[in-house]
Amino acid sequence: METENKSINDFDSQLICEYYSNFERQGVGSPEMTIKALNFINNLTQKSKIADIGCGTGGQTMVLAQNTVANITGVDLLPRFIDIFNENARKLHLEERVNGIVASMDDLPFENGEYDLIWSEGAIYNIGFERGLKEWLKFLKKGGYIAVSDASWFTKKRPSEVENFWKEVGYPGISTISENVNSMEESGYMPVGVFTLPESCWLENFYKLQAPVQEKFLKMYKGNKTVEEFIALERHEAQIYEKYKEYYGYVFYIGKKL
Ligand code: SAH
Repeated sequence: METENKSINDFDSQLICEYYSNFERQGVGSPEMTIKALNFINNLTQKSKIADIGCGTGGQTMVLAQNTVANITGVDLLPRFIDIFNENARKLHLEERVNGIVASMDDLPFENGEYDLIWSEGAIYNIGFERGLKEWLKFLKKGGYIAVSDASWFTKKRPSEVENFWKEVGYPGISTISENVNSMEESGYMPVGVFTLPESCWLENFYKLQAPVQEKFLKMYKGNKTVEEFIALERHEAQIYEKYKEYYGYVFYIGKKL
């Protein structure tokens, strides 16, 4: 079998890519929330440069492009997402000022002080909230902004089932809102806005849209254990959210480089 030579990670990223390219967004969010966060940021002109890190296929990037006049670079690790991203930019006639590139968020091909705004929705967890904020600071101009969304705890104490689930699915770094605001200050930003995303961003825009694709995948890959396990994990995550949504959720953090 062709997949036998590949590591589980290779296979997973292919699978994840194939699964998530079915959606306009690969993370939790909505156009309304992107615009709400953008409203904290002023002074963007035609000369301004925005980087959207972990952009996926560009759901939120196109919203940014349609609501600003700035130039935007989208960055993602997965080439297939970037292909779809650039195709989407062309379809919307935004290719003059919206461009997607393949790179890793821990090794960005940017110049110091190049950007007016760094955007990242539902992706900074891949490097860690505080590490991302610290490493990306140098790419911003003085007075530039950062806007990131990340899963956050809403309470200081949580039931062990939800706490263990998040530790096990690979995001042990999830923090409370006040810890993240503190990280912003520690990293050299002035917090200018923090708001939680409504439950509909997960329930309607994320998990509900996945249900028919999960059915399709289970039929298409009947008997494939990796696919079955992947979908079982996605479903379990949705159940955990349903059960524990008062304990955690997505939060947008907007900061200004001092
Ligand atoms: N911002 C998009 C996608 C969020 S999903 C949205 O909100 O819809 C997280 C994205 O981060 C995925 O597209 C994934 O490919 C990307 N990613 C994961 N690790 C990365 C890394 N090291 N560098 C850049 N992108 C990464």
